[in-house]
Formats: sequence, C-alpha cells, structure tokens
Amino acid sequence: MLQRKEIHHILDGYVRDEITIATMGSHTALQILKGARDEGFKNLVICKRGTEEVYQQFGVADELLIIENYEQFMEEKFLEKLIERNVILIPHGSFVEYLSPKRIENELLVPMLGNRMVLEWESDREKEREWMEHAGLRLPEEFKDPKDIDRLVMVKFPGAKGGKDYFLASNPEEFERKLKKTGLRDKDRFTIQEFVIGTRFYPHYFYSPLKNRLELLSMDIRYESNIDGLSRLPHILQDGTPEPSFVVTGNIPVVARESLLNPILKMGQSVVKASQELFSPGLIGPFCIETICTEELEFIVFEISARIVAGTNLYINGSPYSQLLYQEPMSTGRRISREIKDALMDDSLDSVIY
Ligand code: ATP
Repeated sequence: MLQRKEIHHILDGYVRDEITIATMGSHTALQILKGARDEGFKNLVICKRGTEEVYQQFGVADELLIIENYEQFMEEKFLEKLIERNVILIPHGSFVEYLSPKRIENELLVPMLGNRMVLEWESDREKEREWMEHAGLRLPEEFKDPKDIDRLVMVKFPGAKGGKDYFLASNPEEFERKLKKTGLRDKDRFTIQEFVIGTRFYPHYFYSPLKNRLELLSMDIRYESNIDGLSRLPHILQDGTPEPSFVVTGNIPVVARESLLNPILKMGQSVVKASQELFSPGLIGPFCIETICTEELEFIVFEISARIVAGTNLYINGSPYSQLLYQEPMSTGRRISREIKDALMDDSLDSVIY
C-alpha cells in the first residue's frame, strides 16, 4: 500500500497555480471535466484509443492523452507525465474497475482525491458489510449455507459488474440448478442475499472534511435490464417469464418524500462516522449508499459506492437538492473541484488528497 506520506511528498512538489484536474475518459468524466473548468482549473482526460471522440465532441477537456490499453496508465513513464502536469486524479467507477483497486492502492503514485484506504473497504464484500454494520444500517439478511434459503434471494458475484450474472432463487434446489448454469462452484465467490422488495433510492452524498459537513447533492434510481422491462409485461409473460437480470443501462431521477430526507441524511452521517472510526481519516468527497425503502418506510442498504457514481450524470446542471445548497449549478463533478479549490486556498490539500 502506498503511504500517505509518499503521495503528500509528491503533492508538495506541485506548482499550486498549475494544478490540473484529470480523470479517465468514461463513466462521469464529462461532468468531472466540466466541473473542473467551472471552478477555474485546467483539466485533462486520459482515453483508451477509440473512446476519445466523445470528449473531443463535447470539447470539455483542455488536454487529451491517449493510451493503447489500461496497463499503460500504470507505467512509470506515464505516471511521471501526469505528475509533471501537477495532476490530481479523480477516481470514478470505471477508473477503479479498469485500473483495479489493488493496483491503485499499491502503484498509482499520482495524488488522487479521497482516501485510498476506502478501496479495500469497498471492494471486499466482508469488509463492506462490517463497515455498514458498524454504521448501524439495516442490511439484507445473508445466507451462509444455500441449504438455508427459505425466501427469495439474490446470488451475487464479486466485483462491480453492474449486476451482471446475478440470479434469483427461492429454495436450495433452484439455487443449485441455477448455480450449475453459471459454471461456478467456489462458495467463496458468491454472496446469497435476501431479495428486498421495495423502492430503490441511490442518494448521492458529498462529505467535506474541510467544512466537516455532509451534503445530499442528488438521488437516482438505476434503470436495469431486463428487470425494469419485465414489469411492463406481467400479464403476457406469466409462466414463460425469463430469468430476471440486473444489468445497468441507465439512470432515472428521483426525489424522496420530504419526511424520508431525515433518515437519508442520518444514514450518510453514520457511514461517514463509521469510516472515520474504521479507517481514519475515513470517507472524503463523493459517495453513494444503495438502498431499498420498504412499505414500512425503512431503508435496507445493500451497497456503498465510495466515489462519484454514474447516477450523478443526471444532474450536470444541479439537482433539486443541490439547488437548495448552492446558488449556482452544482454537479457532484463540480463539487469535487470546489473542495480542491477550497483546500488550495486553505493550504490544506493534504486533507482531501491521498
Ligand atoms: P455496482 O457495483 O455497479 O453497484 P453490483 O454488480 O455490485 O453493481 P449491486 O448494486 O449489488 O450490483 O446490485 C445490482 C442491482 O440488483 C441493484 O441495483 C438492485 O436493483 C438489485 N439488488 C441488489 N441487491 C438487492 C437486494 N438485496 N434486494 C433487492 N434487489 C437488489
């Protein structure tokens, strides 16, 4: 694991007026780049060859670096190029997936927004559960032994694949039959989780260590195929219903009943507090809690994403919530650059970068 000191030493060598906000061309890069510009920073996007056109088309980047493959990102020469440009990297979902949490922790020598320690807590399901339990959140029940399955469950595989290959089962026999189809046998590789019925909410939070303040910036619901399509045909499908799948294909905006905002804010606060207790200094910047609200109006949490999430793309121009907090269009991408700008003015970049 790269030490904080090493990263801060590199940061110490940066020319403060020349800081460049950079990210990988995918996921939420457009709003991160626009947000950096809106806050007066230079920006840069790193694209795998073939993906650059979107960023050229929208004209949101001052500089575009092309790599042939993601391996090249980690090469010493490439990292030096970023450091020479006084780059602060902004991680997002694809960034973490393509570069791998382990390699980011151990090899990515470039200063990055946030706390790298969070990667370990987010990418390991056991640790993530420990974190959520420590925060006092309500979680779906888990079944260690498939023989105990006594209700509808969802079987999940490791890695953020946007719900790919997950399956549902209602009893041990159905579980075995469907598992066989996947070709996987290793019990360590899946989690069996109670399937919670309710409505989904994915609130997007931002924690500012500078202000010691948690902000609720926006919320979305993931649009998932084929599950969201199946609901349109129940009377036609009946017995011939295909196996539901949960592949993310888009995001839908949502606001919660106003009386639910208090519990939503409380969940965010407890996740931040627990992170500070488990891996100090804890969460820094954007994160999302993936929840299902039951008919008893209780939130059941099944995942934390400790970085900017793709649902924030709905709100490049701000959301109903961010408009209450800010007098200007404040996307999560822009909020990230605002925090870096505030830290620069405060001479406390160290507190938001690792
Ligand atoms: P990502 O890392 O991109 O969030 P993932 O592959 O880890 O995706 P999850 O977010 O855990 O997948 O789940 C995918 C989808 O499955 C969710 O968006 C939600 O619709 C549904 N889902 C997950 N867990 C549950 C659950 N316990 N009960 C009901 N639905 C669930």
